[in-house]
Amino acid sequence: MGAWPALEPGWVWLCGAGPGDPGLLTLHAVNALRQADVVVYDALVQAEILDWAPQAEHVYAGKRGGKPSAKQRDISLRLVDLARAGKRVLRLKGGDPFVFGRGGEEAQTLIQHGVPVRIIPGISAGIGGLAYAGIPVTHRDVNQSVTFVTGHDQSGATPQSLNWRAIAEGAQVLVIYMGMKHVDQIAAALLEAGRPADEPVAVVCSATTPDQRVLETTLGRMAADIGAAEMEPPAILCIGRSVLMRQVLDWQALMAGAAPRNLDPLNRGRPAEVS
Ligand code: SAH
Repeated sequence: MGAWPALEPGWVWLCGAGPGDPGLLTLHAVNALRQADVVVYDALVQAEILDWAPQAEHVYAGKRGGKPSAKQRDISLRLVDLARAGKRVLRLKGGDPFVFGRGGEEAQTLIQHGVPVRIIPGISAGIGGLAYAGIPVTHRDVNQSVTFVTGHDQSGATPQSLNWRAIAEGAQVLVIYMGMKHVDQIAAALLEAGRPADEPVAVVCSATTPDQRVLETTLGRMAADIGAAEMEPPAILCIGRSVLMRQVLDWQALMAGAAPRNLDPLNRGRPAEVS
């Protein structure tokens, strides 16, 4: 098995917890959970994941969307204090710490204060969460690129710095994090920039958890359908034809005994492996 790294006193390991299902933790994450004196975790970290660290103190550092970044600074400085107090500190964040998770800021503050840091990546919701919904984030017949977007900025507004027209024109498949609050504006901007109203969209809520829900809709209807279906954050929006693959790849439905809805949703007319 080899030697696993030791979480030494005075260190902070900044670790991704994946999108929810504890089975999606990495072995490095489990190794860290077993050694930590204190686990500082975010709102999106599932409670069962903390069960892997029964010996540790569990400190909640969740932020509700749109709160000022001063709070972020408090969290970073708290990590510095814990490390300086000689604790083995595990900073656990949902998904991957460096994907829309402010992990870069926290790590930078720690390093600026001379605190030694290790980074443990995790499975990001925009990849693993879609996989649990049966949506391949890339698919040979659909896209050769993916565009990851955040639907709101630090202030909670739609990011003004984003050029939605350029995104609409250039992105093959769009994966939008934190998009629920401004879904109307996002849909309107993409439609105005020429994306078709009938473009397939999936909304995946609480992906990989027992509460996972998936809504299949279109760009034109997405805002209304999300409201009607009472879909709640956290959610990933996926915009693009890869969403159609769910008609054949919804493996959770297949496991539950359903038949595939469509064996060839992209109308390739041939088995995909014969090219
Ligand atoms: N670092 C995280 C993202 C943090 S931003 C990652 O790599 O996944 C928070 C956003 O992530 C949420 O608003 C939502 O868009 C998305 N998200 C995180 N966990 C999710 C889940 N289980 N299901 C759906 N979306 C999720």
